[in-house]
Amino acid sequence: MKRIQLMPFGAVPGELLERLSAGLSREFSTPCGVLPAQPEPSFAFNVTRRQYLSTQVLASMTERATPDTWRLLGVTLVDLYIPILTFVFGEAQMKGKCALVSAHRLHQEFYGLPADEGLFQERLLKESTHELGHTLTLAHCEDYSCVMSASHGVEWIDLKSSRFCPDCRTSIGKTNSAQAVR
Ligand SMILES: [Zn+2]
Ligand SMILES: [Zn+2]
Repeated sequence: MKRIQLMPFGAVPGELLERLSAGLSREFSTPCGVLPAQPEPSFAFNVTRRQYLSTQVLASMTERATPDTWRLLGVTLVDLYIPILTFVFGEAQMKGKCALVSAHRLHQEFYGLPADEGLFQERLLKESTHELGHTLTLAHCEDYSCVMSASHGVEWIDLKSSRFCPDCRTSIGKTNSAQAVR
């Protein structure tokens, strides 16, 4: 059976990946596994910005998909960017299988606040689900509680749930049955 595969870039804690894997498996009703860790994506490092170009990391993942891959999600602790934005929480291939998420700015400590492990896990699950939603061709959703609503900061992530709204869920169903027909 095809599965969601998590591909850690750099030293991402195993427990974090296991919990994320369980959450995504539940949300997408699809088995999820963790692949061996890749090195930090130094090829995508921008010396001036001291951040990693998200699009380049994502492109490097395309050839890593195997026949077992339903979706391939890169997970990293490094800070990601695209040229027009200060940072991104993640990026996805709108019609591809690959997505990428960064936990860098999901920690309370990043904002000078006390650690909150539960909140951190929750944010990572929401952003991962959101990026995988884009690979299922979902666009941003107007429903603020839907996981596909746009998040420009953690306060927006905290407002939404980790679930798809009924409309988005219906769209995913259509996408998947269309793929099955093909
Ligand atoms: Zn988005
Ligand atoms: Zn929605």
